[in-house]
This record gives sequence, C-alpha cells and structure tokens, in this order.
Amino acid sequence: MFEKISQHESVLFCNDPSTGLKAIIAIHDTTLGPALGGCRMRPYPSTDEAIEDALRLSKGMTYKCAGADVDFGGGKAVIIGDPLTDKSPELFRAFGQFVDSLNGRFYTGTDMGTTPEDFVHSQKETPCIVGIPEEFGGSGDSSVPTAQGVIYSLRATMQAMEGTDDLSGKSYSIQGLGKVGFKVAEKLLEDGAHLYVTDINGKALQQIIEKAEFLPGTLEVVEGEEIYGVNADVFIPCALGGIINDYTIDRLKVKAVVGSANNQLLEDRHGVYLGQKGILYAPDYIVNAGGLIQVADELYGPNKARVLNKTKAIYDSLLKIFQTSKEQNISTVEAANRFCEMKIEQRKTRNSFFSHSKRPKWQVKH
Ligand code: NAD
Repeated sequence: MFEKISQHESVLFCNDPSTGLKAIIAIHDTTLGPALGGCRMRPYPSTDEAIEDALRLSKGMTYKCAGADVDFGGGKAVIIGDPLTDKSPELFRAFGQFVDSLNGRFYTGTDMGTTPEDFVHSQKETPCIVGIPEEFGGSGDSSVPTAQGVIYSLRATMQAMEGTDDLSGKSYSIQGLGKVGFKVAEKLLEDGAHLYVTDINGKALQQIIEKAEFLPGTLEVVEGEEIYGVNADVFIPCALGGIINDYTIDRLKVKAVVGSANNQLLEDRHGVYLGQKGILYAPDYIVNAGGLIQVADELYGPNKARVLNKTKAIYDSLLKIFQTSKEQNISTVEAANRFCEMKIEQRKTRNSFFSHSKRPKWQVKH
C-alpha cells in the first residue's frame, strides 16, 4: 500500500461510525498552494478502488491547477457510499470536520455524486469549502466559465490550425447538450456556425432546435455514434469520458478535438494516435479549467469579471502547448503535462528562498 501512495504528500482515512461516514482525502502536491479537489461519492465495491480513485484524481488536480495557473495544488476526496440512500446533513458535517482537521491544507466542494447543497452542511464545520450556491456566498454555476473556456480553446485551436481565431463559417460536431454543451452550441450558432449535435436526452435536443430558429447558425441532429463520422471541422465532446479510442479515431473526419468532457482519451496513447492521424487534440484538462478557475477564485470573494479574465488565459496556454508539441515533436498531451510540470518546478525553486516557517499561511478564507 505504501508503494501506491509514495507519490502523494498524504492520505487521510476518515471514519465516523455515528453518521456512517467513510471517506478518503488524498493530497498529491501542495507546491503551488493548498490542495484543491472535489469530493466524489460512490458506492465503491472495495476500499482499494476508492483509494485508487482518490490517488489518481488528486494527481490529475495537481496538473489541472498548474495548467489553470491558480494558487492551489492537487487533492481529491471520495466518500464511500450510495449518493441516493446514504447522504445526510450529519454525514456532510462530519466530513467537514475532517477537512477542517487539515488546517487549510485541503479545499473541496462538489463532484460526481455530490451537490453544492451537500457542502452547505460541511461549511458549518470548516471554511475550506468552495463551489457552494450563490445564496450561501458561493460563485454559482461553474458551467458558465467552463463553456467560456471551451470557446477560448476553440479559438486557440483555429488560430493554431488556420492562422485566424474566427469561429464563424465553420462546422462543429457536439456530443452532449447539457450545462456546458448547450452554452457552447448556443455561442457557435450565434457566430453562424453549422452544428451536428447529439444527446441521449430528447429534451436537450428539442431545446437547441428551438434556440437555433432565432440564431444565424444551422443545426443537424444525428443519432448516437453517427456523431463520430460527420464531416465537421472540430469535434466537441461534452458528455462522456473515454470517447477518444481506437474505434472512434478511425471514424473521425475532423481536424481537431476540443471539448469539456473529462478524461476524453481512453488511454494516453490515443493522444499520440490522434496526432498521427493529423487531428489536433486540445488536452481536456486545459480546455475545461473554467469551472476550476471559478471555484479557486472564490477565496477572494465571487467576482465574475475576474474569473472571465483568468479563463481567457486558456487561449494563450493552449497556443504554447500546441507550439511545444510541434517544435519538440511530442503529443499535445505530453506537451501539456510538461507545461504544468515546468510551472511546479519553477515554484519549487522560488519556494526554496523561504524557510519553511516563513511560508505564507495557507488558510486565507476567514
Ligand atoms: P451535464 O450532465 O449537464 O451534461 C451532459 C450531457 O451529455 C447531458 O445532456 C446528457 O444527456 C448527455 N449525454 C450523456 N451520455 C451521452 C451519450 N452517450 N451521447 C450523447 N449525449 C450524452 O454535464 P456538464 O456539466 O455539461 O458537463 C459535460 C462534461 O464536461 C462532463 O464530462 C463533465 O465532467 C465535464 N466538465 C464539466 C464542468 C462543469 O463546470 N460543468 C467542468 C469541467 C468538466
């Protein structure tokens, strides 16, 4: 077991029999600041699987925070339990007490299986909570900056491919018209683009059809897997992970893949395969960082203009990543990882100027 966690700074097991709470908090790296990462709730089949999820996801957060240039490191929490039957205000208060015991080393909020409202209970026990509803002082719906980040990423990708970041007059295929996908589709229709869209939810499709009637762009609905084979310029995955794999890459006719879905590549090698096929891949954790930027920004008090400004920087980060990938003949995934590792290394060098006791206090939210 110690082998498994040797890349992480610390792992905390949280056990509270009175509320039934069983949780794991993994802190991967705090070079850039306190660890930040959502809290996932799932009925994990075994403790080992819960630990592995926490370790993997917290490491991913270290890279995502570095890429988004927020002053946080990587962490993640998982609660072992069924979100439909095992939740209670007391359980989330107990979880909040464990988070508080870390004295500002870990900030958390909603993820799969948990809602912003759950953490209103946790917040009674600790100030280290982000992403709570606006009426409780939070910054509200994170899909707004996430969708803006996707649009900036599309512009950067167009700039890298065609020397202009104009999105109009192009065609896009969008998988998933939920909170993020719908907003991206709406913006592209406003710009006069042609869209191919798919969703398993008929209501979401109906809503975008109605919207398109009043906008300059045009829209075609396609069924399920047909989305992979349409003749679009860019594929925008906004639903599931793992959808870039051997099967789909062989069907894709697009020039680029740029979307919000988490963990789009089934395996890392699929990032390389996309490049070999001449398809430019914008790494998902760089593209979808708008939501993270918003929750990280909450520490200074909610401010939409500041969040938008920071989200715009995704454009320049992606251009740098594309350039490194081209110059060094490496995949864009590898280039993105190096981009983030370099930021962490640079900070380590700077940190060495301070003695440990003189470092700034992490707990800034009071
Ligand atoms: P959502 O649940 O609101 O929307 C997902 C949409 O995808 C739904 O409309 C759903 O019906 C559709 N869908 C599910 N399976 C599908 C399939 N097989 N084919 C076509 N459509 C399918 O989620 P969201 O908040 O819009 O997030 C979309 C993706 O972006 C997710 O992968 C999420 O993890 C990621 N993401 C979201 C945010 C955010 O701020 N919301 C931030 C970072 C990453």
